[in-house]
Amino acid sequence: MRSFIDVPQGSDFPIQNLPYGVIIPNGSSRPRPGTAIGDWVVDLAALEEADLLPTSVFSGDSLNDFMAAGRETWTLVRTTLQKLLSFDDARLRDDMDLRSLSIFPRSAVRMVLPAKIGDYTDFYSSKEHATNVGSLFRDPANALLPNWLHLPVAYHGRASSIVISGTNIRRPNGQTKADNADPVFGPSRLLDFELEVGFFTGKATKLGDPISIENASDHIFGFVLVNDWSARDIQKWEYVPLGPFLGKNFATSISPWIVTLDALEPFRCSGPKQDPSPLPYLSSNQDFAFDIALEVSITSPGSLNADVVCNSNFKHLYWNICQQLAHHTSGGCNINPGDLMASGTISGPEKGSFGSMLEITWRGTTPVTLTDGSERKFINDGDTVAMRGWAEKNGLRIGFGNVSGTILPAR
Ligand code: CA
Repeated sequence: MRSFIDVPQGSDFPIQNLPYGVIIPNGSSRPRPGTAIGDWVVDLAALEEADLLPTSVFSGDSLNDFMAAGRETWTLVRTTLQKLLSFDDARLRDDMDLRSLSIFPRSAVRMVLPAKIGDYTDFYSSKEHATNVGSLFRDPANALLPNWLHLPVAYHGRASSIVISGTNIRRPNGQTKADNADPVFGPSRLLDFELEVGFFTGKATKLGDPISIENASDHIFGFVLVNDWSARDIQKWEYVPLGPFLGKNFATSISPWIVTLDALEPFRCSGPKQDPSPLPYLSSNQDFAFDIALEVSITSPGSLNADVVCNSNFKHLYWNICQQLAHHTSGGCNINPGDLMASGTISGPEKGSFGSMLEITWRGTTPVTLTDGSERKFINDGDTVAMRGWAEKNGLRIGFGNVSGTILPAR
């Protein structure tokens, strides 16, 4: 399949991807849904107004209406768009007026949050990460708590502070306590990132109606990269007994383009073996891991180098997305279009694959040296943290673009 729009070799956005986002073209103030192809974006509201799409879901300023429409509509729009953008279809290719109205260089649009996010849940589904954090915060001999292998642990996060990639992140103030000292209030000294992938839910459910594991993927619209910014010193002092609070709620960054399950279908694979076997409501014969390479880099202020500090993969996750959603709703909790469910930090088995500075530097005991010669135990003011994700095989590349954020000093 080839498009009349030129797609450079190695692009994250070939015609097989077509991720969804919300764009504001330069000179306009109206956000509208769009898709990315090569170095271009296509305005879906304009295509819908021109009667080239079989829907009426793209006139708003978010993707929520489209998400609400469900899997049949998602697949229908995807196949319609692939046909419209293909080299062999003249409708858009030869309509120069419509092309100038609906297709913009990606560099000439601003991205905003792709959805109105009503609720945000953050899982804790990497066994390697949970084991590392359990060892660092508690006891290496009993790093995993007894429930961990039986259910996908999560906490309910804060949707109001989710921001789009490129938004500067203010170092939070908060209450911390050093060993053998009184609590103090001030700037976090141990600011960290967490490498995560999140999914947006689609079709709503009613309160009281669980989603079965077999139906879970029908409610999953697509994925974004997530950086769950974390203040480790605030977190350490506050998290017992109710879990993360101000150590997490000051900011969460997401990438602008939602990559669909349909686009990632060629990259589905089996996940880690689960032992003990999950209970029946979390058991399925279907594979729902995805082979998505993930990378984190830090750019020191004034440096031209993005130093890669982590190479991980989404397939390492112990609990998969369908198990997460089935568990989340098993007690009757309903979901809405645009809810975000993040994976938890995705650490792999080796040291180079750890998804947070807490693990990479083993709580500051083994600092990282960047190419400008400076050392990092955690993240400094002025640092830019960027995460990238892509799936690649047999010449097909489905990419996410990136999620990045630069740290501003505490106020
Ligand atoms: Ca997290």
